Amino acid sequence: MLLEIVKYPDPRLGEKCARVEAVTPELSELIGHMVETMYEKDGVGLAAPQIGEGIRLITVDDTGPKERKALRILVNPEIVESAGEKESEESCLSVPAFSTKIRRKETVTVKAQDEKGQDVCIRAEGLLAVILQHEIDHLDGVTIVDHAGRLKRALYDKKIAKWRKNREQAQA
Ligand code: ZN
Repeated sequence: MLLEIVKYPDPRLGEKCARVEAVTPELSELIGHMVETMYEKDGVGLAAPQIGEGIRLITVDDTGPKERKALRILVNPEIVESAGEKESEESCLSVPAFSTKIRRKETVTVKAQDEKGQDVCIRAEGLLAVILQHEIDHLDGVTIVDHAGRLKRALYDKKIAKWRKNREQAQA
């Protein structure tokens, strides 16, 4: 089932998400829908708040929707170690028609549970490290707009207000 993506400036994207206490059948079902939605929307990562669920859960596949070779389901992911710095140009399914350069850590070690509730530890670099930081940001209510400069953000807010107005006029 395809889920609807929550879009900026929806306040649900700004909230800190709650820990997942147990992997239940309902959660497994939600995970399946999230994976399907991530691939269908051409994403390499998706966080639960992006589909309106305020829980600490992300899906990631840095090989992308065509290859689908490295799917990871991470419950309660947490960055426990990081090193280096790199700049990455990022976009987000929840922030249409926007991208910005963000300073990230070059490598991260992430502890989490998998879809069966088993502890996992991932040491990531390159694209995977960036995706993990991006998705874990979502769990703390942070989007790429928050990382952008004030001017860039103001311009984007203006653009969104204009879209909204055009939509309202079209409906009137
Ligand atoms: Zn995102």
